[in-house]
Amino acid sequence: MVSFQYVLKDVEGKVLETSAQEDPTVYLHGHNGMLPALERELAGATAGTALNVTLSQPYGPNHPDSIQRIPLKHLHAKKKPQPGTVVVVRSKEGLRQVTVLKVGKFSVDVDTNHPFAGMDLTFEIEVLDVRQATPEELAHGHAHGPGGHQH
Ligand code: ZN
Repeated sequence: MVSFQYVLKDVEGKVLETSAQEDPTVYLHGHNGMLPALERELAGATAGTALNVTLSQPYGPNHPDSIQRIPLKHLHAKKKPQPGTVVVVRSKEGLRQVTVLKVGKFSVDVDTNHPFAGMDLTFEIEVLDVRQATPEELAHGHAHGPGGHQH
């Protein structure tokens, strides 16, 4: 079980995402809970390991023909989303992030590309802790406790 903090940047060095100070990212190594390329880089990491990894399109290419109209009720959102926001929808492949383009009365047009599709990304990672997974976590295939599932 690896917990780490990260800063995600594009190739120009613009910060796209950071993990919150008090809420590190935790994942179960070896169970596909992470970008595979990043998981490979983290193999053998210990507390204090610092990595600076640039990946070529880790979220895949940007597909131009990926605009879909979906019913509003399929969105995991409490209220109507705003164009430009990223929302989560349930699809055949599981939950996925999409970007809202246009909002109608009963449906929304979304771009199903991952927000970072088509981009080369740099991850600056600092590993905080590495510990053995509990039998329950191994059975579920994900982390429990702070930073993981709370169920
Ligand atoms: Zn669980």
